[in-house]
Amino acid sequence: MQTKKPIKIKTKEDIKALREAGKILSSIVKELQCSLKTGITTSEIDSITEKLIADAKVRPAFKGYRGFPSCACVSVNEEVVHGIPSERVLCDGDIVSVDVGIIYNNYYSDMAVTVGIGDVLPKVKQLMSVTRDGLLRGIAKGMPGNHLSDISHAIQSFVEEKGFSVVRDFVGHGIGTALHEEPEIPNFGPPHRGPELKEGMVFAIEPMVNLGSWQIQIMEDGWTVKTLDRKPSAHFEHTVVITENGPEILTR
Ligand code: MG
Repeated sequence: MQTKKPIKIKTKEDIKALREAGKILSSIVKELQCSLKTGITTSEIDSITEKLIADAKVRPAFKGYRGFPSCACVSVNEEVVHGIPSERVLCDGDIVSVDVGIIYNNYYSDMAVTVGIGDVLPKVKQLMSVTRDGLLRGIAKGMPGNHLSDISHAIQSFVEEKGFSVVRDFVGHGIGTALHEEPEIPNFGPPHRGPELKEGMVFAIEPMVNLGSWQIQIMEDGWTVKTLDRKPSAHFEHTVVITENGPEILTR
């Protein structure tokens, strides 16, 4: 059996800094959302992200990470995650997922939203709302005494009940003084498995939900992930701390 590193329990000071990082990131993403309109290119979205990060006097977590070239992952329609900003223009009816990570005083925060551009088909709108609500269902299981896979199971069961599918190949993760810490947090699986949740654990929970089948394909750039059936996909992510009273969303 593979031995895994233990899940770090954050101190009060750590959580204070992660709370600040989350606050900064959520205001960056909120402001970024206002610029997501018909006619903008995905690389313009990245430039805006870069400026917002610089203005907030924090550092981008993704640029340079394993060679990733930009501050934001921008994934349109059939792109699931890790879209590299390009000259692709957003059109009426598209959906766009923006995933942004920042580093504040050596503490990381990670957040993603999917936004509709103009007039989006009702079924695709529902895909976005189910992904966001699935994330919130998962987060709600972030109680001390629950097990890690209670989060996973809550997401999968909600999403599948609504007729959508959950991507298997990419998962959420612990986060703190590194972007990716233990544990991996799948968005699917049976309940009551895995480590017990404890106060002070901090997770980036991030369901990727497909309109069609859950299968994906990694493109030749080595980053961009698309749905195999080329139907749309949505992605929402929050950084969350487990407190004695339950989950606290740091990127709200
Ligand atoms: Mg993440």
